[in-house]
Amino acid sequence: MRSFEHVRAHTVDEALEALGDDWNTRVLAGGTDLLHEMKQGTVIAERLVDIKQIPELGKIEDGNGEVSVGALSRISTLEENALVRARLPILVQAAAEVASPQLRNMGTVAGNVLQRPRCWYYRDRHTVCLRRGGKLCFAAMGDNSRHAIFGAAPCSMVCPSDLAPALVALGAKVEIAGPKGRHEMLLQETFRTPKQDPRRENCLGPSDILTGFRIPEPAPGSRGVFLKARERRVWDFALASVAAQVQTDGDNTVTSAGIVLGGVAPNPWVSQKAQETLAGEKLTEEVCRAAADAAVSEAKAMKHNGYKIDLTRTLVERALTELRG
Ligand SMILES: Cc1cc2nc3c(=O)[nH]c(=O)nc-3n(C[C@H](O)[C@H](O)[C@H](O)COP(=O)(O)OP(=O)(O)OC[C@H]3O[C@@H](n4cnc5c(N)ncnc54)[C@H](O)[C@@H]3O)c2cc1C
Repeated sequence: MRSFEHVRAHTVDEALEALGDDWNTRVLAGGTDLLHEMKQGTVIAERLVDIKQIPELGKIEDGNGEVSVGALSRISTLEENALVRARLPILVQAAAEVASPQLRNMGTVAGNVLQRPRCWYYRDRHTVCLRRGGKLCFAAMGDNSRHAIFGAAPCSMVCPSDLAPALVALGAKVEIAGPKGRHEMLLQETFRTPKQDPRRENCLGPSDILTGFRIPEPAPGSRGVFLKARERRVWDFALASVAAQVQTDGDNTVTSAGIVLGGVAPNPWVSQKAQETLAGEKLTEEVCRAAADAAVSEAKAMKHNGYKIDLTRTLVERALTELRG
């Protein structure tokens, strides 16, 4: 690991001042992903701006029909926080599926959403793939068993975050502080497809800091579930996951649905097809099955990842069946 400068910021303004306008300077939160990348040599940074000592970024608060979750909130805190448990159970379920207790104690919510791809070609320092500035996605012709079945061109990595699909299904907004001030946008709109930018997964630039999330309180009649399939029962990234957040009226008719898939696309994949299939329908066994079929109707398998289509279909059907009650 190369030596680097470590700058400890105590306010967001101090952190913004210490950040540069290129990726030689990086934001350091829990460090569970960034330091690993630096040790592996896939990231070379000259300076890290450590934001862990900024108290305002660690708070979880209730306000104006929203729950605000500071960027530095630990993933384990989400699991334990009474407000999150009462209002956003789907987020608690997703948090409980992340890695191991030790990593959940170190890893932050923003760090989880902004973690870099786990694609084995991207993570190999000797392989300069498209995402690292090369010309080719090696997974396209290599081992693509963990790769995307949606939106795979020109890079087929998958979004590794368990929290991101749940936050998108809840309609979360993010607050971003940068050189031009602070602004807010839907989390879903921060993501960049490989076609838009094969090197970055989101719109944050090197001088931006994600300061927090604002999550609208789900309306009465809403319920959600997060399910994840992985190869091993101990810590492992999702082969596929689904965050399903559904609102029904007194008649069990769906008035709104958020079906967001993880581990199967470069970004959290909002399944418009499944959502359309559910809209205005009673949540019957047939409708759950039809929505699961619709969720994978546009999936495209590569040579080694065809199993993900059946797996995703089954997860969606199982999640919706749980929501039928
Ligand atoms: C063995 C292992 C197993 C794992 N399994 C899972 C799993 O099953 N599911 C899952 O979802 N994740 C998993 N992870 C990933 C883990 O959850 C992340 O490493 C962790 O959440 C990252 O949070 P952090 O605070 O440590 O981020 P850091 O490592 O500090 O940062 C990660 C990235 O985000 C940037 N960043 C962080 N915070 C901000 C901010 N506020 N503003 C701007 N940029 C920021 C950093 O510059 C860096 O690029 C696993 C990790 C490991 C090592």
